[in-house]
Amino acid sequence: MFDLKGRVAIVTGGNGGIGLGMARGLAAAGARVVVAARDAAKSRAAVQDLGARGAEAHAVATDVTDEGSVGALIDATLARFGRLDVLVNNAGINIRKPAHELALDEWRRVLDTNLTSAFLCSKAAYPAFKSAGGGKVVNIGSMMSIFGASFAPVYSASKGGIVQLTKSTAVAWAKDNIQVNAVLPGWIDTDLTQNARREVPGLNENILRRTPAGRWGVIDDMAGVAVFLASPASDFVTGAVIPVDGGYSIQG
Ligand code: NDP
Repeated sequence: MFDLKGRVAIVTGGNGGIGLGMARGLAAAGARVVVAARDAAKSRAAVQDLGARGAEAHAVATDVTDEGSVGALIDATLARFGRLDVLVNNAGINIRKPAHELALDEWRRVLDTNLTSAFLCSKAAYPAFKSAGGGKVVNIGSMMSIFGASFAPVYSASKGGIVQLTKSTAVAWAKDNIQVNAVLPGWIDTDLTQNARREVPGLNENILRRTPAGRWGVIDDMAGVAVFLASPASDFVTGAVIPVDGGYSIQG
């Protein structure tokens, strides 16, 4: 039910953090994995990490904000592995400022990276999914898909948008046997949140107090949900929005 042997998965931002945690899960379930990100050295290290776990992995230098680069990613995946079954739209950034301090180009950069990228990658992957007879899209939202924060106007707008993009593509592509779901990670220890801890006073203490599990997530906490949403186990699950947050979102 959870077997991904013979399947091919692209993970955007798969060279570190949550993307690497998910890529490890997919690889352990038997998938061949394409790591799509900009930093070539980090991507090489991720391919080595996955290879050391016995997986076949390949890096394609990709800027997910650029439609040409996204098209080249799909072409390179098909050239290397001959098919595409799973797309994880995980690449993301944050610029932490209240709305009155945020410049228009910063607004656009975050929306392009976090939301428009998921549209571009999903659209580019669609023909390959159709020829494979189906596909799986896993979009990465956030607690900011649900909640707001003074320092996150554009990040929360992008992550709220991810949920609605998930639902609309899930409806449109159900007839093609393509399932589209969103994962909302809680607070996971990565480069992104190391920066947040530095920039937002009291964040670490607030998160530890508010998370029923009493800890930050680690990247390997994200592996199981990725395998579930990429595998036949979730063939009747589409348009769902699944928190993986140690209970952060259910604590009043
Ligand atoms: P990281 O900073 O560790 O990873 C971000 C990844 O995105 C990197 O691999 C980076 O690779 C890639 N990336 C950024 N911009 C681009 C681009 N233009 N083109 C291609 N790849 C890009 O952060 P996380 O692992 O924490 O975040 C991953 C996702 O999870 C994001 O969408 C984030 O919003 C989300 N998330 C994270 C949470 C957390 O607590 N950590 C909580 C909720 C959601 P490179 O720089 O090489 O391009």
